Amino acid sequence: TKLSLKDDSLLETRAYVNGVWIEKDATFPVYNPATGDLIANVSDLSVEDTSAAIDAAYAAKADWASWTGKERAGVLRKWFDLMVENADDLATILTAEMGKPWAEARGEIIYGASFIEWFAEEAKRVYGDVIPGHQRDKRIVVLKQPIGVVGSITPWNFPNAMIARKVAPALAVGCTFVARPAELTPLSALAMAVLGERAGIPAGVLNVIPSSDSAGIGQELCANEKVAKITFTGSTRVGKILMSQCSDTIKKMSLELGGNAPFLVFDDADIDAAVEGAMIAKYRNNGQTCVCANRIYVQAGVYDEFAAKLKAKVASLSIGDGFADGITTGPLINEAAVAKVEDHIADAVEKGATIVEGGTRSNLGGTFFQPTVLTGVTRKMKVAKEETFGPVAPLFKFEDEADVVAMANDSEFGLASYFYSRDLSRVWRVAEALESGMVGINTGLISTEVAPFGGIKQSGLGREGSKYGTEDFLEMKYLCMGEI
Ligand code: ADP
Repeated sequence: TKLSLKDDSLLETRAYVNGVWIEKDATFPVYNPATGDLIANVSDLSVEDTSAAIDAAYAAKADWASWTGKERAGVLRKWFDLMVENADDLATILTAEMGKPWAEARGEIIYGASFIEWFAEEAKRVYGDVIPGHQRDKRIVVLKQPIGVVGSITPWNFPNAMIARKVAPALAVGCTFVARPAELTPLSALAMAVLGERAGIPAGVLNVIPSSDSAGIGQELCANEKVAKITFTGSTRVGKILMSQCSDTIKKMSLELGGNAPFLVFDDADIDAAVEGAMIAKYRNNGQTCVCANRIYVQAGVYDEFAAKLKAKVASLSIGDGFADGITTGPLINEAAVAKVEDHIADAVEKGATIVEGGTRSNLGGTFFQPTVLTGVTRKMKVAKEETFGPVAPLFKFEDEADVVAMANDSEFGLASYFYSRDLSRVWRVAEALESGMVGINTGLISTEVAPFGGIKQSGLGREGSKYGTEDFLEMKYLCMGEI
């Protein structure tokens, strides 16, 4: 089926390597998860092609690093402007390949673009340091230099923003980039490259290598000595594979891995606000984000009220094709995602939970699933330990603050957590005690380009966004000058 775009050239199916659009005989199909329709066949790059893209990025790095921050900022700023100007088309491509409602897809484009804007500004502010010397005739200076070629591997749940968050700081500080987008959603990445080329990113600085061979390409990016760093967003399982593959070359890594976010509602919370926050933290992107609330703990005194109000809100969500008007909830990405959601619900019900809303596939068929609320959830159930990555809100009841903090922290993950309370001392106490890289307090939405996004424990390494976001792409070099 043909997408209705204002600029058809944004629907690119060729790879982008060394400033050239490459068409391969081998292709892989990209489908619309809402309809099952074929959107396009995309060039399928091999391990050899990947190595050629790495060579191109390696050859381009010295010149790109020599540009002034202001010059790089100018190109990135143009790229940002083009992303915003073309936001409608980029959203259409994104909804077609990933399924989220069009308005939400457009929101993702603006969010992704905000990182390019932010790091265009930061490009001019990569400061080194002068350190008072340790001897009279010595002077000490610290330089910050781009790390070199960056390989990126990204998932399908934010086909634009996950790449934007990585490529923007990398290019801003003078690194060059090889992006391997998820095989389910390569079209958004290629559209970004079309606009990057128009913005004047030089040949070799940005390369996009669509491929169906995730393991082979990943292995090459990790093993190739010309790649200085891997930046990855995806599952903890794959993050571990990449980390071990990077050990041979001691590659620097940034990892944004799985989460299992707890969402705590205390007796003293504004319950209506907590329900609103839960709707965003749980059902945004149909539950398919790494910062989605996965375990919702509600204090006994407000449990029934919270459950009733959440159920009412969830019942008002409208499921459907992301291109239809008024849709809040698209399909899940694929059949495996539906199977996991069904498994988590069945396990919970078998162990005593009650389905108070949803609980089954939607009558729309395909991978549409009804947004679900479960009550009577306990820590023996799978939802207490595993990331569901779907529209299921399991409600646990708790009595005591110390207990709930212990339950919230009883996870190998530590990405995001959320809680609702109006008691100032509790807010500080709980915020300090929660083991996660990010804490939403009286809010369900924490992602922004101005703040450091990232996890602790097995949720990852490094931070994306904010004034700290450039550090992940810089090396420090200390100069010791003698005989002064
Ligand atoms: P998700 O559950 O979000 O799909 P994955 O970790 O499975 O998370 O996938 C994230 C990205 O990692 C995708 O682009 C996928 O193709 C890629 N990927 C999966 N397996 C490997 C692997 N062995 N090596 C490198 N990349 C991989």
